[in-house]
Amino acid sequence: MRENIILKCTECGEENYINTKNKRNHPDRMEVKKYCSRCNKKTTHKEKK
Ligand SMILES: [Zn+2]
Repeated sequence: MRENIILKCTECGEENYINTKNKRNHPDRMEVKKYCSRCNKKTTHKEKK
């Protein structure tokens, strides 16, 4: 079962990425370091629920 999730910058709140994840492999909220165009640097992005 793959589920669409939105990855949101934890610093400015911008929703930068749409991703899919396997709920069986990642039951918890995903947290990834990705580039944010608003912050102009790599920030932590968290799954938005
Ligand atoms: Zn940002």
